[in-house]
Amino acid sequence: MARRRQIYEGKAKVLFEGPEPGTLVQYFKDDATAFNNKKRGVITGKGVLNNRISEYLMSRLNEIGIPTHLVRRLNMREQLIREVEIIPVEVVVRNVVAGSLAQRFGMAEGTPLPRSIVELYYKSDELNDPMVTEEHITAFGWATPQEIDELMSMALRINDFLSGLFLGIELRLVDFKIEFGRLWEGDQVRVVLADEISPDSCRLWDMKTNEKMDKDRFRRDLGKVAEAYQEVARRLGILPESGPRDMKGPDTMQ
Ligand code: UDP
Repeated sequence: MARRRQIYEGKAKVLFEGPEPGTLVQYFKDDATAFNNKKRGVITGKGVLNNRISEYLMSRLNEIGIPTHLVRRLNMREQLIREVEIIPVEVVVRNVVAGSLAQRFGMAEGTPLPRSIVELYYKSDELNDPMVTEEHITAFGWATPQEIDELMSMALRINDFLSGLFLGIELRLVDFKIEFGRLWEGDQVRVVLADEISPDSCRLWDMKTNEKMDKDRFRRDLGKVAEAYQEVARRLGILPESGPRDMKGPDTMQ
């Protein structure tokens, strides 16, 4: 395969130049980080599973009219995506108290919220992703009021749809983080769902046992991390045909 130019390397993914202008290839790594890079590890097979899970969820969301950056999955670890300008705001939607919300307000993890809560964070590793309000976002020019309206309403639709989808496979969607990007089509610009949706960016608890099936298994050293991601994929009905055996990534990426 011809060597492609690397555009960006993040904690769990690499972006390469795509085959046509306006496209990129998103490669899913097995690397895992938590607590703003303080904890690092490798979860063998994670990239394959997240590539497949994110493709599946974004495709289902696209079918209900949520625009996404996904064009199509290319292979076990890569997907073709539209090049977007990432809006530097992480949108977190919560249905049940967990993680930083539990810590911040001293609430018990697992307490159901009376209604879904949307939180906005400024995407900055150096600043440790501080929580922000719409005021900061518009005052500092990270997004316009109209873009914030669009991404907030999309986030709530995504939450309703994914909550139902996961309920159908006996998983509780506790919370998740999504990112949006600006997609140019001629001189028109629109906001689309970008990045990924996977057990790296969601909290998913088994409805019957409350077992954690997401990155908290890595964050909290609970073990069986890849197995939990694989179980999510299995319940979604999308385990790779070749099974878990060949999920170890190549030693070099190209
Ligand atoms: N999350 C994420 N990336 C981040 C921060 C949070 O994917 O940089 C996800 C996290 O997996 C969880 C949700 O967003 O599903 C809410 O995370 P929280 O604010 O509780 O922070 P954490 O517990 O990860 O510090």
